[in-house]
Amino acid sequence: MKIKKDDMVVVITGKDNYKNSKDWLDNKKVTAHKVLSADPKNGKLVVEGVSVATKHQKPQGQNKDGGIIKVETPIYASKVMLYCPKCKAGVRAGYKVEDGKKTRVCKKCGAEI
Ligand SMILES: [Zn+2]
Repeated sequence: MKIKKDDMVVVITGKDNYKNSKDWLDNKKVTAHKVLSADPKNGKLVVEGVSVATKHQKPQGQNKDGGIIKVETPIYASKVMLYCPKCKAGVRAGYKVEDGKKTRVCKKCGAEI
């Protein structure tokens, strides 16, 4: 899995597809989301603001009122692409090895991501 925590990604399928977003419909702007956690073993990611489920929490401890909380549920990594700030789009990533150091690059423009 090429995506890790704190990466910026673009959702390409499902209801959170960037093409359904207001940014895209109004301005043709691709919305990038931050990866909150990555689970390479299961090929899943938790992405900020994506696949948000609403849970009703029972009153407990300090939170005596309980209430509704929003939680991001994990999605498959195949549903997203890495966001390239230079292309301003979701892109395929590759690796470049230079002086024995491996860096992740955008396959489109060659920028490091
Ligand atoms: Zn690029």
